[in-house]
Amino acid sequence: MSKGSSNGDKSTGLVYHHDFLKHDTGAYHPERAARLTAIIERLESSGLSERLVRISPEPAALEQIEYVHERSYIESVREVCERGGGMLDPDTPVSAASYEVALLAAGGVIKAVEEVLNGNLKSVFAAVRPPGHHAERSRGMGFCIFNNVAIAAEHLKRRGLRRILIVDWDVHHGNGTQNAFYEDASVLYFSTHQYPYYPGTGWLDEVGSGDGRGFTVNVPLPAGCGDPDYIYVFKEVLAPIAAEFRPEFVLISAGFDPHASDPLAGMRLSSRTFGVLTEVIKSAVGGGGRIVVSLEGGYSLNALAESVQYVLEALRDEFEGGGVPEAEARAAVRNRVAEIKRIQREYWGL
Ligand SMILES: [Zn+2]
Repeated sequence: MSKGSSNGDKSTGLVYHHDFLKHDTGAYHPERAARLTAIIERLESSGLSERLVRISPEPAALEQIEYVHERSYIESVREVCERGGGMLDPDTPVSAASYEVALLAAGGVIKAVEEVLNGNLKSVFAAVRPPGHHAERSRGMGFCIFNNVAIAAEHLKRRGLRRILIVDWDVHHGNGTQNAFYEDASVLYFSTHQYPYYPGTGWLDEVGSGDGRGFTVNVPLPAGCGDPDYIYVFKEVLAPIAAEFRPEFVLISAGFDPHASDPLAGMRLSSRTFGVLTEVIKSAVGGGGRIVVSLEGGYSLNALAESVQYVLEALRDEFEGGGVPEAEARAAVRNRVAEIKRIQREYWGL
């Protein structure tokens, strides 16, 4: 169990299954099985995995996928995979095993949420693939098949929760998640993302509609943002809104593609900053915060593995030299934050 660990506290879980490697995207696709292998190897070589409770996922039930997706779309994914594979969109290949693996990924995040809800664990990192935040009600896109985090949020609603915070720091906007809860005041969706960039959504005037007005908070950022810019945004926008919302549960759509080494996007985060962002979220929601972190993007293997380690250390209060540094954001980011505050002030005490 916690052999050789100075800290025997096993309050944080890790969802992983070898079957996640069976979703085969081909030889040259960035969203590949080696991503998860790199994470697991890092957690083992650093000794951190000994201090984590391993959680073995089970496939989500069809009714659970239907919380977010249309039956006809789910069936079409199954059929494409039964024929041996194909493309859901130009970016999203599936192989024979992908349907089952996508069920397992969604089921993994549901199980993570259950472990925390039941009080067995305080937090869980779900090292799942395929990712989910681009997946729409009736179509897969952007490497995503089923929207793991949105399904988990719907699961939480069915367990009686009324204030669920989703923080999406993937470099791409989580269009699928935003749309799933756009008119829903029980799920607050906060996203930082490079803009303009794929998938094209997520401008700051997208704030939700109907009962959901003010429960979507978008922070579109210019390319080239670094550690101080992100820390500033999280402290200035997310922290006060999260503190006021008082979430009963936090889901993090954790994409590690804002990393400086990432081959797909143009942000400049260091690995440590993902730990810092985790700390900002934890302190905004208070000590009893229940947190499940679900892997989205992140395509530089070393950067991904290192960043995940920092997030897990932050979840476990083991983050070396922890604490949130003062952050001097550049003018373009300060101006953007001021604009967002003007818009969101209608809903929040900013
Ligand atoms: Zn991404």
